[in-house]
Amino acid sequence: MLRTALGLGLPDWVQDIRGRLEGSPLLRRIGRVLMGHDCVSSTNDVARDLALSGYPEGTVVLARQQTAGRGRLGRRWVSPVGGIWMSVLLRPSSGVGVWGAGSSQVAGGVLLALGSLATVQALAQVGLEAGIKWPNDVYWQGRKLGGILAEAAADFSSVVLGMGLNVDFPLSALPPAEQGAAITVQEALRWQLRMQRDRGGSGRIDGGQPEGESLVAALTAAIIDRMDDLYARLKAEGAEPLLDRWREESLVLGKKVLIRQGEHCWEGMAEDIDREGALLVRGDEGDLVRVVAGDVSLRVEG
Ligand code: ADP
Repeated sequence: MLRTALGLGLPDWVQDIRGRLEGSPLLRRIGRVLMGHDCVSSTNDVARDLALSGYPEGTVVLARQQTAGRGRLGRRWVSPVGGIWMSVLLRPSSGVGVWGAGSSQVAGGVLLALGSLATVQALAQVGLEAGIKWPNDVYWQGRKLGGILAEAAADFSSVVLGMGLNVDFPLSALPPAEQGAAITVQEALRWQLRMQRDRGGSGRIDGGQPEGESLVAALTAAIIDRMDDLYARLKAEGAEPLLDRWREESLVLGKKVLIRQGEHCWEGMAEDIDREGALLVRGDEGDLVRVVAGDVSLRVEG
């Protein structure tokens, strides 16, 4: 474990990411220990094993590709080379009180905010204005760039925060059914440039804009840095400031939404996100329903 903590024996692409992180590794919590694999089943599975072996909070597991990445409710997450497939080991119990009750749902809600906000803030650093579709997805212009998955260990001693981001690969790497609804960061940047030009702007990309592996490395380091900062603030200030920023980046608040819970489907107006990260939806009869991330699918209707 010491070798890993010192960054010895890391593959070159992980060394590259490590070299891009801000400040001293010893002063950070998230990313102090980095591990990278060429190919794994799921980085969340690897991180959960590391949690059981006593790896410290903030350990980050990266993979160039996953063969069995997963979304919520056991759905498949397709993870070819050219994306960020990453899991972060957190031990919320070492900061109990920050998000209260110690239930996996509570931790899940606030940690989904942490992961998705860090991702959106990192994307802003490369010039892409993405938004968050409650509870866990990162979107650009109605197309999915990535998502966050929080999985608590059975004994609640640790939470693994997984994140997937499509960065730079041909969309044909995804199954045909996913291609229309998904997009990569690189593709979105190209579209954004075209849209700026159409609006009469210069639509100029400064030379040296990273692409491919270099864009993956830059964004990975930026996400880890943003998470480290947000997590330190979460511990110091509590969840409310984080949730405020999450609300600001939400693509759902103020919109009509269609909620599916198992067989049950209903419509309402998304009004707010509460202090535990649950969505408050005003039903047709005026009742305010608290929707918890985990077992629901949500569609924004406009
Ligand atoms: P939801 O969109 O309901 O929150 P999840 O966040 O659990 O769903 O994500 C899983 C779903 O995302 C899959 O069922 C699939 O439709 C889609 N998907 C899988 N891989 C990708 C990918 N690389 N990019 C975008 N969407 C994907």
